[in-house]
Amino acid sequence: MKISFNVPPYVGKEQDYILESIKSHKICGDGEFTKNCNKWIEDRTGAAKALLTTACSTALDMAAILSEVGPGDEVILPSFTFVSTANAFVLRGATLVFVDIRPDTQNIDEKLIEDAVTDRTKVIVPVHYAGVGCEMDTIMDIAKRHDLLVVEDAAQGVMSTYKGRALGSMGDYGCYSFHETKNYSMGEGGALLIRDEAKVDRAEIIREKGTDRSRFLKGVVDKYTWVDMGSSYLPSEMNAAYLWAQLEMAEEINEDRLASWNAYYEQLRPLADEGLIELPVIPAECAHNAHMFYIKTRDIEERSALAAHLKENGILAVFHYVPLHSAPAGSRFGRFHGEDRYTTNTFERLLRLPMYYDLGLDNVEKICDRIKEFYGK
Ligand SMILES: *Cc1c(COP(=O)(O)O)cnc(C)c1O
Repeated sequence: MKISFNVPPYVGKEQDYILESIKSHKICGDGEFTKNCNKWIEDRTGAAKALLTTACSTALDMAAILSEVGPGDEVILPSFTFVSTANAFVLRGATLVFVDIRPDTQNIDEKLIEDAVTDRTKVIVPVHYAGVGCEMDTIMDIAKRHDLLVVEDAAQGVMSTYKGRALGSMGDYGCYSFHETKNYSMGEGGALLIRDEAKVDRAEIIREKGTDRSRFLKGVVDKYTWVDMGSSYLPSEMNAAYLWAQLEMAEEINEDRLASWNAYYEQLRPLADEGLIELPVIPAECAHNAHMFYIKTRDIEERSALAAHLKENGILAVFHYVPLHSAPAGSRFGRFHGEDRYTTNTFERLLRLPMYYDLGLDNVEKICDRIKEFYGK
């Protein structure tokens, strides 16, 4: 028996759509499949505009450019996140200010943010870990009172909501990932969500190498020219074609993942009740997308031993994130504000279990049986 940690989602129609894009002789960006995907995101989230990008990383890069941060400016973010959350702002020359996470959701602790705000702070970057929303009302209130921008790293949050609002749609900008490890995929890819209509024009220019090409294509200007800084942030139609097949099936994919997630939760609950492990917490305000199922062991030794036990049984379980503030680049580009109570502790205890579309309840049961066996049950 062998159970992978991740299998990229595949629903069947991807090949047809890719072939269709090839036959249409439109394989560069912004063809019909890209438009379908953008519209799907706009309809689901209420964003004024959604733009497919080559990655969530590049959507974050665009958000950082649009935020107009530069040397001397500070950006508040969790240390328990993927490097791309930080890189986008480091590339603009900004200083990172890391804040601790909550032990229940592993999201940035909203109660610690205000203390980290200085007169140089420009942006708050909540990361919706495991597709479970951060405490956005509190975060938006702090941003409003201090005149800060909010860039949501919603890489893991497609189809998730906070108080009924889509993750990625509440801040000034939201960033989605369609990497092969995420719920919906195009291999490599992402999207930038723009909340306010007034910001859309500049975003389109930055995404089209700093030219007003998209205004030209809409017939607003009669030739296009270089008007701003930018780069090529649009993905090829063949990738968008793959994604479109998945977005058409988003509901089914979501339900399948939630069924696996709920089965894990039910079967591991007795271990949590005995205090042997901790299970994820989903706040009442949040509807999640089962991006991830993780447990927390009592300490790092137990986590290593459990991962090894699962591996011996053909099951791949992994962990992350090396806290950014303790990585070489993190200490060079930023500082940790306040006390690290949960960031390093979570990194040491968290273990992610296999989770992907079509994992199957039989596999979930096998994995849970092995975990129970490890704890002598
Ligand atoms: C996956 C991920 C990213 C990067 O996404 P890419 O599409 O691979 O660039 C950024 N932030 C978080 C929190 C992620 O999980």
